[in-house]
Amino acid sequence: MNDNLDAKIAAKEAEIETLRARRNEERAADLRAKPLLDRMIFAATARCHCGAGLAYDPAADGEPPFKGPSKWECSDILLFKTYDAERQAAVKAATHDEGFPFAFYEIKSERQPSQRGMTTRPEAEQ
Ligand SMILES: [Zn+2]
Repeated sequence: MNDNLDAKIAAKEAEIETLRARRNEERAADLRAKPLLDRMIFAATARCHCGAGLAYDPAADGEPPFKGPSKWECSDILLFKTYDAERQAAVKAATHDEGFPFAFYEIKSERQPSQRGMTTRPEAEQ
């Protein structure tokens, strides 16, 4: 009788694990389907040396051993804005900060309630 219950519990746990994996994949796919600028998370106030807000892409593939994003970076670099502008202006791309790993920097995001809606997100350009 106990063996029977253990087997039922194991089967339910396996089913839950499968459902959880499917849900996570669907959430990741929904996120990746959004335009990059829409899904990016911007810092509330912290900016790169160049003036653009720091940001990260929650759908980014992480560098091992991390899964997903692991650092704040210049949003102009993430949005591929900067290199074209610098190439055209023939400016050396040394004006940007290296990036700030989450593990070492406590940079508040625009989603942090204590930041009261502050964001470095650029205004819509249209
Ligand atoms: Zn920058």
